[in-house]
Amino acid sequence: MELPPIKYLVLTHHHCDHSFGMSQWNLVSIANYKTKEYLKTYQEITYDDEALELAKHKGILNDFFVTSIKNEIEDRNNFQPLTTELSFDGEMTIDLGGITCELRHITSPHTDDSTIIYIPEEKTMFLGDSLYGKRSDGFNSFDDEIIFPMMDLIKEYEVEHFISSYEPAFGNNDFVSFDEHLRLGFSIADNCSSLEAGLIEYENRFDKEAPNDLVFFMKSFGLR
Ligand SMILES: [Zn+2]
Repeated sequence: MELPPIKYLVLTHHHCDHSFGMSQWNLVSIANYKTKEYLKTYQEITYDDEALELAKHKGILNDFFVTSIKNEIEDRNNFQPLTTELSFDGEMTIDLGGITCELRHITSPHTDDSTIIYIPEEKTMFLGDSLYGKRSDGFNSFDDEIIFPMMDLIKEYEVEHFISSYEPAFGNNDFVSFDEHLRLGFSIADNCSSLEAGLIEYENRFDKEAPNDLVFFMKSFGLR
């Protein structure tokens, strides 16, 4: 496949597993202004053991990131993360000639600096980590007041192919089914006081055991 050379690098959010590799790409880099603010915070800290503990304490890095940084970055004393060259506020469109990239800053349940990228000519949307929640007490956590407005916003686009960070590309039917299961998981979690009660509620409604994704959503909306 003959592809033109890559010109731009767009960050989907600031998390170090999505931004620390920037130095390996000699490209014009772009992020929303909020991501740029977080990247500045990454630049203001050092990466020795003591500083990493402090960064964890301050909520700049979580346990997983600290462990990954210790494992992956060999020369932490001289490590200096980069920031992007360009930033935008709200939305930005890049006309690549025959193909367009529409960047949009959204608040997702994962971070408040998520950027989604829509390619109208291809009806393709890059979601980054937007569909993932936050880690809380060892569990995935979704904030209903954030995830449902985000799902509604994504549904305004005509999308045939979704690209999410950690799974194979999926189509609109899968997205709709994800959305329905998510809302069902929330409605059960909202009505029940425990995971056990939630599982019984599901069984009563559908006459079968709750599938894994429903159990995951119930837990993500707080059932234990
Ligand atoms: Zn992330």
